[in-house]
Amino acid sequence: MEYVDLHTHSTASDGTETPEALVRAAAACGLKAVALTDHDTAAGLDEAEAAGHACGIRVVRGCELAARTPYGEAHILGLWLPRDLGRLGSALEALREKRALRNMRMVEKLCGLGLDISCEEVLREAGEGSVGRPHMAAVLVRKGYAHSVREAFARYLGYGGAAFVEREVLEPAQAVQLLCEAGATAVLAHPCLLPCPRDWLEGFVRELAGAGLTGLEAYHSEHDAAQTRQCVELAGKYGLELSGGSDFHGGNKPGIRLGVGRGGLRVPAFVLERLLARRARLGLPA
Ligand code: AMP
Ligand code: ZN
Ligand code: FE
Ligand code: FE
Repeated sequence: MEYVDLHTHSTASDGTETPEALVRAAAACGLKAVALTDHDTAAGLDEAEAAGHACGIRVVRGCELAARTPYGEAHILGLWLPRDLGRLGSALEALREKRALRNMRMVEKLCGLGLDISCEEVLREAGEGSVGRPHMAAVLVRKGYAHSVREAFARYLGYGGAAFVEREVLEPAQAVQLLCEAGATAVLAHPCLLPCPRDWLEGFVRELAGAGLTGLEAYHSEHDAAQTRQCVELAGKYGLELSGGSDFHGGNKPGIRLGVGRGGLRVPAFVLERLLARRARLGLPA
């Protein structure tokens, strides 16, 4: 059986592997395809695609967008992003600007708590990437303000943490429409991680399906068997495809490996084939 991984992050956002290293690693573990889905950016895609050509693995150009819900952020993956992003490109840029504002406000809060941390340090930690809380967490751990990333989130950076600031994100249907308009395939990421009632999730999926959603990420490192089954059922009910990926972040999410997640994840290649077939039916390029 052949396997794929359709959800990964590189140094272009908050992962620790470069796009090239990530794609090479995916090829080395025998995956048939890998999608690079960095937060709010397409910056790593050309490098990833070139590495894919060099080592014979299919690379799907993707990104991950956050959307507002009453239960916190829902995440929407865009797969098969076009090379010329058009309006999606300006939307991604605006999201990165909002990220930067939010990061600044969070750093100010950390300073207000008496911690010695600057925006420059956080930016340096992120390198070229789309900057986020994992970069702040890395600085906090390095400077001894937290023992681990987990502790940094629990005390300071997570929802309810002392330095938490809400981030301005898209409306869910707007995110889906933006991706569809660009010719990408929109997939609701890790649906069961949203802390919402079951019937609310169903209504949400129905609404997104109406806006052009193609699939649900049933297979994910943090989904258990029952949650995967719930997604499969929901997808069946609303005529959606399935997707799956590890949400690999390298050292920023220890314990999650490409293709296998925490060990038990396997996304069969037919998941990719079905997404491709759906695109072909819509006349969209692969
Ligand atoms: P941001 O995009 O800046 O809002 O940061 C979100 C990222 O932070 C997610 O992609 C996760 O990788 C990471 N994250 C969120 N909550 C936690 C947590 N409690 N522990 C560790 N990492 C987290
Ligand atoms: Zn991330
Ligand atoms: Fe996510
Ligand atoms: Fe992700």
